[in-house]
Amino acid sequence: MTNIKPIRDIEKLSPLFRKKVKAFLREMKKIDPMAPHETLRTAERQLYLYRTGKSKVKHSNHQDGVAVDLHFTTGEAFPRAGSSRWKTSAKIAKKYGIDCGGILWDWDWNHFQDDGSKEQLIIKGVPEWGQVFAQKMKTKGITTDPKLEIMINGGETIPLYQFMGVIEKYVE
Ligand SMILES: [Zn+2]
Repeated sequence: MTNIKPIRDIEKLSPLFRKKVKAFLREMKKIDPMAPHETLRTAERQLYLYRTGKSKVKHSNHQDGVAVDLHFTTGEAFPRAGSSRWKTSAKIAKKYGIDCGGILWDWDWNHFQDDGSKEQLIIKGVPEWGQVFAQKMKTKGITTDPKLEIMINGGETIPLYQFMGVIEKYVE
C-alpha cells in the first residue's frame, strides 16, 4: 500500500465535472460553504477502502474524476446523514448537474457525482451567434455529419450533431 492517501485537488477532476463542481461551490459559498474532502481516487486507495469496508464498490466514480466528497467549512464539517444542510446542498448541486449520494442511495451524504447531463454547461458556453446559427440551420433542415466533433468547455469533445441538438432545444 503506497498510494492510499486521499487527493483533495479539485483540478484533478475531469474537465466538465470540475466546471460543474466549481460553479456549485461558488453558490454554496454564499449559503453554507463547502470544500473538497476527496476528489480523484487511485485504484490502490479504492481497493483499500473496499477491503476495509469503507466503500461498497470495487470501482468508484472517484477513479474516473466524476465524483467528489465534500465537507462544510463552518460549524460541523460532517453533519449527520440526511440533515437539512446536506439536503439543501443536494438540491443546489442538482441545479449544476450533480447528484448527491444521500439522495441516490440514502447514505454517503458527502458524496457528490456527475449526473451525466452536459446540457446546462454546454448552453452557457455557446455565444449568441452560435445559437442564431443553430436556429438557421434547423430552419433550413441542415443536419451535420455524425462523425464531426466539437470541443466544448474544458476541452471535452462531443459529436457536433449532439451539440446542435442541445442548442436547438434552448433556442426554440
Ligand atoms: Zn465519494
